[in-house]
Amino acid sequence: DSPILRKPAWIRVKAPGSPVYRETVDVVRKNGLVTVCEEAGCPNIGECWSKRHATFMIMGDTCTRACAFCNVRTGLPGPLDAGEPDRVADAVARLGLDHVVITSVDRDDLEDGGARHFAETIRAIRRRTPATTIEVLTPDFLRKEGALEIVVEARPDVFNHNLETVPSLYLTVRPGARYFHSIRLLQRVKELDPAIFTKSGIMVGLGETRNEVLQLMDDLRSADVDFLTIGQYLQPTRKHHPVAAFITPEEFRAYETIGKAKGFLLVAASPLTRSSYHAGDDFAALRAA
Ligand code: SF4
Ligand code: SF4
Repeated sequence: DSPILRKPAWIRVKAPGSPVYRETVDVVRKNGLVTVCEEAGCPNIGECWSKRHATFMIMGDTCTRACAFCNVRTGLPGPLDAGEPDRVADAVARLGLDHVVITSVDRDDLEDGGARHFAETIRAIRRRTPATTIEVLTPDFLRKEGALEIVVEARPDVFNHNLETVPSLYLTVRPGARYFHSIRLLQRVKELDPAIFTKSGIMVGLGETRNEVLQLMDDLRSADVDFLTIGQYLQPTRKHHPVAAFITPEEFRAYETIGKAKGFLLVAASPLTRSSYHAGDDFAALRAA
C-alpha cells in the first residue's frame, strides 16, 4: 500500500450538489448508464455535472485490464447491452449536449474489442441529435485486427486515445499496453480520415521527467495528433500507484506553451485537466476560430 499524499492548495474542486448536478444524476440513472466521471472518481464531477457535462463509459463497468492509476474494477465483463447506444443517445438529447465524450472500458474479451458497439453508439447519437459533436476516447484495440477502421468509418468528430504516461513508465503504470502501438493507432486514424481531429492525453506526477514529456509531444506530433491534454495524476486509493510529484501550475503553463509551439492545435494543461475536461468548450472555440 502507498499512503496518499496531501494535495497541494492549487488542487481545489467544486462540491457537487447544485440542482443541475442532480438533474444530470437523474438522467444518468434513469437511462441506466455508467460514467467515467463516477467510476474514475474524477475530481471535476461537481463542476462538470453542474453544466450537464457527463462522460459516458460504454460496455460496462468492469475492465479486462488493470492499469495502476485507474479506479475502474478489473474482471471479466458481462455481455454487451444492445440497447445501450440508444440510451446514450437519449441521455445526450435530454442533457442537451453540444459535444459529448464517449469512452469505454477495455474489452480484450471481445473479438472486435468493442469497435462495433462504439460505431453503433456514434450512429445512434447522430440519428437523435445530428448537431452534437462526438468525441470518442477509445481503448488501444491491441491485437484486434480491423477494429479501428470500424470506429473511424462511423466518423466521430474527435478521436481520442490516451497515452496516459511516458514510455519508460508503461511497465509499471500501463501494463498490457504498448506505447508505439498507441502512437501508431492515432496516426492511422489521420491516414484513414484526415477530417477527424485526433487527440491524446497524459497524466503527470507519476515519476516522468520533463524531457520525457517533451519527447512524447514530439512523438505525437510526428503522428499528426491535433490536441493534447495534460493533468495531474491523483492516487485514487492506497492500492494504486503513488503520486511521485505534484506538478506546479507554472510547470503546467510551461507545458502548454511548449505544446502549442510544437504545433498542437489545442493544448490543455493544468492540475485538474482530464481528457474530457472542458472538451466541448475547447472544441467549439477551435471550430469558431
Ligand atoms: Fe467527467 Fe471528464 Fe468532467 Fe471528470 S473532467 S467529471 S471525467 S466530464
Ligand atoms: Fe482503467 Fe482504461 Fe486501464 Fe481499463 S484500460 S484499467 S478502464 S485505464
